[in-house]
Amino acid sequence: MAVPLVDLGAQYVALKTEIEAVVSEVFETQGFVGGPFLEGFERAMGEYLNGVRCVGVASGTDALLLTLRAAGIGPGDEVITSPFTFFATAGAVANVGAIPVFVDIEPDTFNIDVVQIESKITERTKALMPVHIFGQCADMDPVLALAERHGLRVIEDCAQALGARYKGRLACTLGDAAGVSFYPSKNLGGAGDGGMVAARDEELAERVRLLRNHGQDSAYRHALVGTNSRLDALQAAVLSVKLKHLDTWNAQRRERAAYYGAQLADVPEMVAPIERAGNYHVYHQYVVRLPARDRAIESLRAKGIGCAVFYPVPLHRQECFAHLGYSENDYPVAIQASREVLALPIYPELTCEQQDEVVAALKEHVAALPRI
Ligand SMILES: *Cc1c(COP(=O)(O)O)cnc(C)c1O
Repeated sequence: MAVPLVDLGAQYVALKTEIEAVVSEVFETQGFVGGPFLEGFERAMGEYLNGVRCVGVASGTDALLLTLRAAGIGPGDEVITSPFTFFATAGAVANVGAIPVFVDIEPDTFNIDVVQIESKITERTKALMPVHIFGQCADMDPVLALAERHGLRVIEDCAQALGARYKGRLACTLGDAAGVSFYPSKNLGGAGDGGMVAARDEELAERVRLLRNHGQDSAYRHALVGTNSRLDALQAAVLSVKLKHLDTWNAQRRERAAYYGAQLADVPEMVAPIERAGNYHVYHQYVVRLPARDRAIESLRAKGIGCAVFYPVPLHRQECFAHLGYSENDYPVAIQASREVLALPIYPELTCEQQDEVVAALKEHVAALPRI
């Protein structure tokens, strides 16, 4: 039996009737841009996130980019973030003309190592941008305390962590603002690209609302130079249907993570992901560390088991950031992670039998390792 890394079809089958109904409603109204579906979804997300202001945008990337712009961050400014994340995090910083300044990660959670942040703060630092990687919140209290002390913005990259909690507080409601992605494979995935800015800071939310629509404050009056980055009504309609299931899906991801954890507990060569005390991890990815990682990929794939490396090249080693002058040794924990990590299949519909297959394949890999 093949076990795909993700199986979006399984979710669609379960929601087909509801999704098709709402999609045809949008077609009946022909209101594809703006309108009640978008407004309804923004309101529902605001309620889900305990009253923060939500502005739908075209992608998670744009959510981060427009938040940075709305916060007035631009050329000459520095933004502190993690090198062990999807490119968009630092790409957004660079695209507003600012400089991404990296801080190494914790070896167990893969999140930014908050202890190392302060030494990177300079006169030019404007914001801290923690990424809640793989669905687990970064250690936010120290981040918020540093921001307070140094007068910095906190922008959460929540692309992988919608529904996650930190000491009981929801991701997206911890900093000044957060970027969410509705890329189809994210925990709340649309039928294409989509994203959202969730902002506790109302002024920031209002500026994002202007920026996503060419800075128009009334018809053909442009207060700011913005862009076209609106969330489609069709996406909003589909996402409204799915949002109602998000908490259940996240709980199902956690159950599957717990099952992997129990089954892999007797494999000391492998390091399973941990959930830091006080965190509610929503397992966007289930990422293990293991020896001979590349060989494991070959042997899993040969058995029809999907797996992937997030992330094979930390951002400080990307060609496009060569001019920033980082060297490999600058972020040793991120480098080591990039060599050892492997993401296993995890999604709400994943069955026990499928998980057993993944576990058996991993145990076979480990058993075949040369003994010293
Ligand atoms: C997916 C992702 C993004 C970007 O979201 P898109 O919707 O694909 O533009 C940003 N940051 C992280 C950590 C992500 O995983």
